[in-house]
Amino acid sequence: MAEWPSAALAPWAADPRSSRGRVHAEASPVGRDDYQRDRDRIIHSTAFRRLEYKTQVFVNHEGDLFRTRLTHSLEVAQIARSVARNLGLNESLTEAISLAHDLGHTPFGHAGQDALNECMRDHGGFEHNLQSLRVVDVLEERYAEFDGLNLTFEAREGILKHCSRRNARELGAVAERFLSGAQPSLEAQLANLADELAYNNHDVDDGLRSGLITLDLLGEVGIFARHAREVTTRHPGLSGRRLIHETIRRMINSLVVDLTRETRRRIADVNPASVDDVRAAPPLVGFGDSMAAEHAELKQFLRDALYRHYRVLRMSAKARRIVGELFQAFLSDPRLLPPQDQGRARQNPARAVADYIAGMTDRYAIREHRRLFGIEETAG
Ligand code: MG
Repeated sequence: MAEWPSAALAPWAADPRSSRGRVHAEASPVGRDDYQRDRDRIIHSTAFRRLEYKTQVFVNHEGDLFRTRLTHSLEVAQIARSVARNLGLNESLTEAISLAHDLGHTPFGHAGQDALNECMRDHGGFEHNLQSLRVVDVLEERYAEFDGLNLTFEAREGILKHCSRRNARELGAVAERFLSGAQPSLEAQLANLADELAYNNHDVDDGLRSGLITLDLLGEVGIFARHAREVTTRHPGLSGRRLIHETIRRMINSLVVDLTRETRRRIADVNPASVDDVRAAPPLVGFGDSMAAEHAELKQFLRDALYRHYRVLRMSAKARRIVGELFQAFLSDPRLLPPQDQGRARQNPARAVADYIAGMTDRYAIREHRRLFGIEETAG
């Protein structure tokens, strides 16, 4: 299959002119299309700005150079867009999904989400993907005529990466594919894989920077060792940050090249004539077998060496405690919530408390915890 000419949409790309539209009908935008409008609304949202102070692995105040959810989301968008362009996909939709995919994340990364899910066990649970959709559908308060951002169906469907069957039945059309077994658009599939690709690589970088993992340890991981060898052969004597960056940029590049090649091969096999054909086909965005195995090995390494490092686990334990105590304090007395959250708390107290906590940045949650539990603090 030939290179797809840039700027031309392939027949398998999502086309804003055949969008399934928005929940609240709006006139078409002028000077941009509907997916560009989705992307712009996401960038201007409050939840997007909060990503700057939310963590991936490291708590926000631990260092200025670690990734935050904001820089992570930008890296995902950059990777996904460049692949989208090579495959003739819709770049704006890919970008919108990439930028919005983590909007529903709690403070303190996965530890925060696990703690909140545990707190919500008897109240319908908490899942960050579902919360990202809730942010863009309900929680953003910016427009006169509707709650949320009123994004297109395709952006909303792409944001909802996982969903239980029980939740899917409640959500209706946007979650239909979790009941029917259909795939989402290629733009959504791509944003999803770019997310993994981005965090595996930047967690290597942040892990090394923090000193929790070392170059020696990474020497046992196939994909890292291969590229580090290539760098030292080309640049003997290179060490420190430059060696790390040269290695990681090669890793990212090889993953992106493999992903593009394999996806192009699968598209050529299925030869979809429309997005409907994409939806009916097996997943088309993916790595080739050997790269998939190497990527999985890297992921497993990070799980064992970094995410389960005792210093990360200590931080997670602290985060769980903060989230758990905030939840109990607000649920047992919703009058402690700020006035703007009390209205929703009258209808569904547990959900309103979860929304409030999920919206917090790391530092806001720490401050709020101190305000409620620190005896020497003035309430504020
Ligand atoms: Mg992510």
